[in-house]
Amino acid sequence: MVHFVGAGPGATDLITIRGKKLIEEADVIIYAGSLVNPELLQYAKENAKIHDSARLTLEEVIEIIKTARKENKDVVRLHTGDPSIYGAIKEQMDILDEEKITYDVTPGVSSLCGAAAALNMEYTLPGISQSVIITRMDGRTPVPEKESVEALSSHGATMVFFLSAGDLERLSNRLQNAGMAADTPCAIVYKATWDDEKKYVCTLESLAKTAADNGINKTALIIVGKTVAQSGYEKSRLYAADFSTGYREKKL
Ligand code: SAH
Repeated sequence: MVHFVGAGPGATDLITIRGKKLIEEADVIIYAGSLVNPELLQYAKENAKIHDSARLTLEEVIEIIKTARKENKDVVRLHTGDPSIYGAIKEQMDILDEEKITYDVTPGVSSLCGAAAALNMEYTLPGISQSVIITRMDGRTPVPEKESVEALSSHGATMVFFLSAGDLERLSNRLQNAGMAADTPCAIVYKATWDDEKKYVCTLESLAKTAADNGINKTALIIVGKTVAQSGYEKSRLYAADFSTGYREKKL
């Protein structure tokens, strides 16, 4: 079997129990060396064959999987965070389908969640925003026009930008030109949950300078929106004393 496994955001104890077990049992592990914490490989069997996919093409990854499966070996394809977010897993799955090689997916803790934890942040504050937009600025990979930074910013929702830390001057200018206030709260979380995690709360105006002053241009999430201030929200109705739920009667 081939297992796509979410490695979690960095800390070695933030992989799932299932993901760890699959690593322990794998004969072959292909991990995304650019972002997966290599310490996770300590869970592997002594004789497991380990490949860093940062040095490989898609075809080379598939070749390793095909060879392993011919020998009936178990393969773990280890992706950072959760594989469903910018994981490039579908292109691998489609080839495996063609080759009639079976696989399954084990979810992981996305850096989306790792960053919120680092900030003690709730992305969805009643009265401020009830939606989280997971997106990226276009780069070498284009983004559909309707999902441009400008278009998405009109919602006033919490925005979490992946893969965008390399050009924060451009991100900040585009958001401001689209009408977002210069003092909109922002956060930068670098290597969330790693030992060298860094986090900064700033504004849209100071975003690029804050990153530059601290030498951050990759492996970071940028969170933009009023929720970053974590104040001025309304309390949840779910726990309100004057509100009955399916689990308890109102107390006021
Ligand atoms: N599947 C991954 C995301 C892969 S895309 C997940 O669920 O987290 C790679 C981008 O994710 C990076 O450019 C960066 O923006 C973000 N990222 C990954 N790990 C991170 C971490 N520990 N802290 C902050 N950002 C991270």
